[in-house]
Amino acid sequence: MQALRGRIVQAESQAMAAPSVSVLITGANRGLGLEMVKQIVEAPRPLRTLFACCRDPDGPRAEALQTLAKKHPDIISVVRLDVDDLCSIKQCAQHVGSLVGTGGLNLLINNAGVLIRNTLQETSPEEMQKTFNTNVIGPMSILQEFLPHLRSAAKACGTPGMSTSKAAVVNISSTLASMQRIQQTYEFTPAVSYRISKAALNMLTMCAVEELRKDEILFSLLHPGWVRTEMGGEDGDIEAQESVLGMCDVMASLTEKQNGAFLDYKGNPIPW
Ligand code: NDP
Repeated sequence: MQALRGRIVQAESQAMAAPSVSVLITGANRGLGLEMVKQIVEAPRPLRTLFACCRDPDGPRAEALQTLAKKHPDIISVVRLDVDDLCSIKQCAQHVGSLVGTGGLNLLINNAGVLIRNTLQETSPEEMQKTFNTNVIGPMSILQEFLPHLRSAAKACGTPGMSTSKAAVVNISSTLASMQRIQQTYEFTPAVSYRISKAALNMLTMCAVEELRKDEILFSLLHPGWVRTEMGGEDGDIEAQESVLGMCDVMASLTEKQNGAFLDYKGNPIPW
């Protein structure tokens, strides 16, 4: 009991010493995104603003997020962002920029994603296009449009090195993108367009690592585990709460040594 109290006091004093950060999450209205909003807003780490983005903030699928936002009106800002729509990405980036100012955006989590269960022989060009739009082209456009805000955050931080408190992009990938693991996973979940799109997201991330290392922006790829969400289905191994607890710990521990790392929610490296 005393040890637990000690840990809480330590976490609280570390939290008071740390500067407050701004965080943006895409696909924040349900599944892993909504759980991230819940856990990040309740964590001791000081938060300036949590931009919880979804494509239809006033629709029925965003009710749980809106209820949560009402409990934390000074921190959570629900913003419209359709990852498939460049206009919406540009508008969101402008809006966020006007709120964060020179402090910038510290952590961008590209979480929104789609999965179509298809084999190679079934996959249509339309399915491939749709999956690419959301899982690859969306995160690419989001990175391009939010880059000035990430750069501002890196500059405003004023200390060397990399961290998710300074300036970082976490792209939610999947073990299904792993070429080395395909023999173990293919038969169970072919999902060809999804696998290819997440492998492309991984390469997009590595391109960003190379191009933006000088800006001291950290990039990382996280696999959340097989999680019981609408996408993961009822047979998943773990609940969203456990996955997000793990991913938040991993995100908090990232430094320049993990720039470009592909890790699972426990921090274990995933083979490419
Ligand atoms: P869900 O299907 O439960 O949720 C997907 C989220 O993405 C929803 O909020 C959805 O919003 C949003 N989304 C989809 N398309 C768009 C779009 N065009 N614009 C904005 N938002 C969009 O999935 P999970 O929560 O399980 O998955 C989250 C991430 O984790 C994904 O990237 C997924 O690939 C990854 N992942 C999940 C695993 C799992 O087992 N669950 C395993 C490995 C990776 P809307 O309600 O509007 O549709």
